[in-house]
Amino acid sequence: MTPRHLIAGNWKMNGLTASLDEARAVAASLAETSAAAEVALCPSATLIFAMAQALAGTRVLVGGQDCRAEASGAFTGDIAAEQIKDAGATLVILGHSERRAGHGETSQDVAAKVEAALRTGLRPIVCVGETLEEREAGKAIAVVTGQVADSLPQALDGASFAVAYEPVWAIGSGLTPTIAQIEEVHIAIRGVLTNKFGDHGKTAPILYGGSVKPANAKEILAAAEVGGALVGGASLKAADFLPIIRSAG
Ligand code: PEP
Repeated sequence: MTPRHLIAGNWKMNGLTASLDEARAVAASLAETSAAAEVALCPSATLIFAMAQALAGTRVLVGGQDCRAEASGAFTGDIAAEQIKDAGATLVILGHSERRAGHGETSQDVAAKVEAALRTGLRPIVCVGETLEEREAGKAIAVVTGQVADSLPQALDGASFAVAYEPVWAIGSGLTPTIAQIEEVHIAIRGVLTNKFGDHGKTAPILYGGSVKPANAKEILAAAEVGGALVGGASLKAADFLPIIRSAG
């Protein structure tokens, strides 16, 4: 049966080679007592190869946190989707708000990166989300649906990508939207996906991200149109990440 949820951990700029023990602990626990969800960890680029080796043969997938749209070239410090794939990843997070805000990435830039990921065979997790100011101005739905429409290329199959709704104000803050607010946005995102891609848009999982922790995971994952979670801080330690995985279906 296809898992209902994808639970992906975003390690951000955290972790050294010693941290791979946490990834190994996640995989070992899932081997002992199985869980229904699909599971991924997305470490810094320096760790992708070693993590992919450490997790080979386990059910924990490895992902990158960004890629450049070009396949190769004079782009010092950047990483191509092809290189992420070659290092052993099968997914890549794209358009995270920390990249949109900190690196000036537009939705059009993100769409080009999504094309690169798909060209390479990486599954993109495309992040969208409103700021607190935008929410307070009543613009959350318009901002998020606009980002979804503009960050995805024209033709896509629902099985080949995921969207992550991550309200910027909920990331790393301990704040989370109400379940009704999450459902409202996820249902609106589903509307954009089905408008844009027809039947193909019905199957892409829509993850929620922003201060997901063991204490709130079950309720969030049970909400309408929530197809998983993108987890930042609580994915760094197996002891926090595992209960979130086990809250999923
Ligand atoms: C994230 O940055 O993708 C995220 C969801 O972070 P946190 O879980 O720490 O809020």
